[in-house]
Formats: sequence, structure tokens, C-alpha cells
Amino acid sequence: MGYGIASDNRGAQRPLGIVTENSATSTFNPYFDAVSGDGIDRSTGEILARSPQAARAERWALKSVVNKLLSGDRVSKCMVLRAPIPNQGLAPIEVHKGHTHGKAFYHGLMSCGLPWVCPVCAAKIAERRRGELESAVESAKGNGFGVHFVTLTIPHGIGDDLHDTLARLSDALKRMSSDNTFRRHKAQCEVEIVGYIRAQEVTYGDNGWHPHYHLLVFTKEATCGSSVIQYLYSGAWRRACLKAGLPEPHPVYGCTVQDGAHAARYASKWGIEDEMTKGHTKKAKRHGLTPWGLLRAVLDGGSPEIAAEPAAALFRLYAHAFKGRRQLHWSVGLRAILLPEAVELSDQQIVERPEDERAVLLAELTTEQWRSIRRARAEASVLDAAEAGKPVLEVVLSHIVRRQSGDAVRDARDERTHGGAALPLDVLDAPLDVRLADIFRHPPPDPVRKPRSG
Ligand SMILES: [Zn+2]
Repeated sequence: MGYGIASDNRGAQRPLGIVTENSATSTFNPYFDAVSGDGIDRSTGEILARSPQAARAERWALKSVVNKLLSGDRVSKCMVLRAPIPNQGLAPIEVHKGHTHGKAFYHGLMSCGLPWVCPVCAAKIAERRRGELESAVESAKGNGFGVHFVTLTIPHGIGDDLHDTLARLSDALKRMSSDNTFRRHKAQCEVEIVGYIRAQEVTYGDNGWHPHYHLLVFTKEATCGSSVIQYLYSGAWRRACLKAGLPEPHPVYGCTVQDGAHAARYASKWGIEDEMTKGHTKKAKRHGLTPWGLLRAVLDGGSPEIAAEPAAALFRLYAHAFKGRRQLHWSVGLRAILLPEAVELSDQQIVERPEDERAVLLAELTTEQWRSIRRARAEASVLDAAEAGKPVLEVVLSHIVRRQSGDAVRDARDERTHGGAALPLDVLDAPLDVRLADIFRHPPPDPVRKPRSG
């Protein structure tokens, strides 16, 4: 996926998008210092990086957009409805906190496992796949293989039919793998290709849809140079595109090859939206938007690139065109060579596993609580609270439910009048979600409940 939003630092006035939890940066901090501290370039005020919590909040916000755009589809039920358990009815909705990284997550909800359209599932799937890519590159190096990063593009224009282009691209890939000229040239160059991993990505920009592929190509010889791979792949790509009825690839940008260091970097960022596609998009006048970028434009009511309405229509079209397509493809036999020990899981299996095997159950949510959380769009905030601990979670849950029933604001006003304000009023009056960042800037309220009278 990569969803590499094309952006250099000049364009980074706003968060760069889906950043999945990364073990190196996921140290939990309930006081959100990354939002107001580390993540800001003090000289320019630009947001350079976000905390895992901020990224998660955005994923849930984008998820709510998808639920509306694709209402009725499988994705719209994901993380909304309780998961069925065979012969036992519906699973209870639980909040767990993982032991390994201290990350909280929901258990018992339906998961769609659709990485193209679901920001929540995409993050889980990407985390696993990214690890596999990194291990594959490591293993290749350990085996003394060469690693090359190949990018394949086609010329594209605003009137292109995405469905038609994708069908032709699939055809081109098939033709490429059965290209006898490619085999002959390989033999002439004395190159032995151990295998490849191919990732499909798409962006939308001034020239319409830009579907493209990145390949990690593993060669038997570590000394095999990029120019040889370039010669082999650019010829094969050109022939394949022409046979599939696609326009002739650009002589320079149609097929680019970068070295193993770039391949390793790509693997380590896979599924994290950043500047991965910088190589060719930096040269473009304007940056393309990833599908998540389109969703963000819908969420924000428009972006410098695109208004909300066309962004919504484009996302629907994209969702339809990419349905059932593979994001990552490993050539036959490569897994057995590079990751002989690793268990291969489907996307659905990845999202259905508990996120952490050694998690602690913090709360079982009632249907009423879950409904209130969803109505308040506080799914991510509840997880933030869970990570801060069970007492905070309990307070936040009760506030969300009371706020939904309209009591909380009145209660808080009464408390303030009586000098006992537990939470600042602006938090409770916040229109969209429960602003935990604000709650935590004030000392968390004492979770001890008043004894019941009578
Ligand atoms: Zn999902």
C-alpha cells in the first residue's frame, strides 16, 4: 500500500496522515506531548510527526467518513457491530490493554480486513506486512542476495478509466512474467532473480489516477548492479504495457531502479503514509493524494488540492475499482526461501487476532456505552484513556455516557458552582468528541466515587 502521500517538507503544514504505531516511537504518553511538543518544528510551526495516539485518532475519524461513504458495505460494519461467535451469538465488546507495547484495543467487534478502504484494518495489516518485508530484506542480505527497488509507472491522464487501467495493468504484469525476451536478456546478463515482492499503490493528482507498482527484486548475486536491473525491467515493462494496450511508459520515469538501501527504507515504512513515492512525485508540480488523503479532504471539508464532494466521489470509485485486488504479491517460492519459519496469515486472519496475546481486560462495554462512544466519536479517546489506566478509563466512560444523555454538562456546571469542578467545561461542551488532550492537561479527576447515600 504505502499510501505514500507525496509531500516534501514544504507541503507539510498538516499532518502527513496515517502513521501506524511503530515500536520505536510508541512509548505511551497520556499527556500528548508529541502533539504540542516534539512533533512541531519550532522555527516554522509545521507538524512533522505525530504521536501514535494522534495517528490513531485520525484513523478512527477517517473510518467514520468511510462508514458513511460506503454505508451498507462490509467496511461500514467493521468496528461498529459486535462480532458473531459461531453458535454463541454475539461477542461482548471489551477494551484490552496489551502487555507488550501498552497499546489498548477493542475486542469483540467485527473486523472487515479490507486494507484498501478501512483505515483501522489497514493499519493492523500494514504493521504485520511491514515486519515481513523488513525480515525479507534482512534475510536476503543474510543469504548474500542483491536487493533492488524497482518502480513501474505508466503515463496517465485526467480522463483515464480506473477500472480499465487496472485491468490492463494486471494483464501487463502477466505478460511481463511470461516474457521470453526478458528471460533471454537475463541469461545474457548472467542475472539470476531469486524472486520479487510487488506492492500496488495509487495516488490521485492533477493528472488523474496514478496507479503504480513497487518491486523489491532479489538477485542471487549481491554484486548485480542497478543498471542491469534497469535494462532488464524497463524493456520488459515497455513490451508488457504495449501488449496490454497501455500507453508506452516514459523512457526515464516508466521504470526506475534504486539500490538495496532504498528497498530497506521502503520496507521499513510500508503502510505508513509518508514520502515514499517522493522519487518521482517530487518532480511533479503538485502532489498526488493517497486514498486516505481523499478521505481527509472529505473529513476536513476540502483541502488545497480538492473539494470534499469530488474527493468523496473519487474515493467511492477507487473503493470499487480496487475491491478484491492484492496490495502485496510475493513471487512463488520466495516466502519459503526468505521467511521459512514465518506463518503466513491472510488479511482477515491478521485483523481477527487479538492485537496482543498477553493483553489485560480493562472493561466490558455495555451496548449503551458503545452506542454513546460511537455517537461521541470517542472510539480513539477511549483507547487513549485505557492506556492511561483502568481508573481513567472508568471516569472517561462514565463521562461519555452521561454527556450523551445530556447530564454531564449540567453536572459539571453544578460542580463548578460548588467549587468542585472535575473537568473543564469546554471539554464537556466540545462539539465533536471528548477532548482527552484537554482533560489530561488538567489533573485527572479522582476516580473514587462518592458513596451512595441512603
Ligand atoms: Zn476494517
